[in-house]
Amino acid sequence: VDERFDGTVEFLRELVCAPSLICAEESAQAVVERRMLDMGFSVESVVPDVEQLAAQPESGSPLHPYEGRRNLVGQLAGSGAGVVTLNGHVDVVTAEPHELWEHDPYGGEIHDGRMYGRGAADMKGGVAAMLLAIEAAHAVGPPSATVVYQSVIEEETTGNGALTAGLASPAPGAALIAEPTNGGVYVAAVGVTHGRVTITGPAGHALSADQRVNPIDEAYGVIAALRELEAQLNAAPDPEFADVEHPYVLNIGALHAGDMPSSTPAEAQLDFRLGIPRSLTPAAAMRRVEEAVARVSPGATVSLRGQRAHGYAFDPEAPFVRLLRDTHEEVHGAPPLVGSSKGGNDLRFFERPFRVPGAACYGPTGGAYHGLDEWVDLASIADVATVMALVLLRWN
Ligand SMILES: [Zn+2]
Repeated sequence: VDERFDGTVEFLRELVCAPSLICAEESAQAVVERRMLDMGFSVESVVPDVEQLAAQPESGSPLHPYEGRRNLVGQLAGSGAGVVTLNGHVDVVTAEPHELWEHDPYGGEIHDGRMYGRGAADMKGGVAAMLLAIEAAHAVGPPSATVVYQSVIEEETTGNGALTAGLASPAPGAALIAEPTNGGVYVAAVGVTHGRVTITGPAGHALSADQRVNPIDEAYGVIAALRELEAQLNAAPDPEFADVEHPYVLNIGALHAGDMPSSTPAEAQLDFRLGIPRSLTPAAAMRRVEEAVARVSPGATVSLRGQRAHGYAFDPEAPFVRLLRDTHEEVHGAPPLVGSSKGGNDLRFFERPFRVPGAACYGPTGGAYHGLDEWVDLASIADVATVMALVLLRWN
């Protein structure tokens, strides 16, 4: 890991400089593909197929066409028969407004041991760590298990990249995603549903606005109703979240309405993200949303818009997870935090539909994900890569 660390930082810089926003992921996939081929992976390109996805109850609702947008599924043979899958997403959320950043969001600047940029932590730093770990393990090994590396799109919006890559991969006995966990081992996460509430009104001139419903005003009532639902969900958390404060978070992510002061708009669109318990299916959660909205805005419609992710919980004592925890403790002198995440991620697919017995998120340290001046701690990439390399060498 030490020998190959400088090359990894250079790879990460190139990856952070690729503005791999939704529908523009290829800039980053090309960088990852080159690195995988250099490492000796056989690499297959897998484009999501809307018909295949429609047959999968875990898929998200596609927001954009998939033409020209690929996932990568690589295989690097081991000496034995087992398979372990490592997965990383290359898509990033917007960095707008860029002028509020102190560092160039696509510059890969390094200051005081941190690399800054959109996606540096979530999760290009983790991608760099996983590939470094595989490279190091194979330089010493080879490991017993064949390593499958999935480089996927749309983690942030639908999960359809990871689902597609999983359907095109051999069944693994274990899986790991290096989302930024600050060196913690995260085996559970909330479910997440993305939706849009569309509120309509009669529209008209502002001089008579006191005589009609304004969809923007009505949106306040809808938000309050959703906050009430959020409070109900948090009153009865799943056991994995007993010690987590406010696990199920509602975020109002966008409100689109109107275009000028002297017209009442005909429509308002409110986009939300709601964290949900594992005990509630995404479909059931959407029905709860519809009921809550109907009470305050009877004419409003609710539609799925992106993820319908179930919450998941892997066994922290599963042999692969135990090996990861023990190896972390051996390398770093203290056991890792074993936690449950308030954010969803692609690890859920290894529970359903892929039924992998042992899986965890384990990755580097960073901050300001989805915010301004996102950063990843470079030393933490080597820290987790060392542990992951040993796990790969020991797992069979
Ligand atoms: Zn992520």
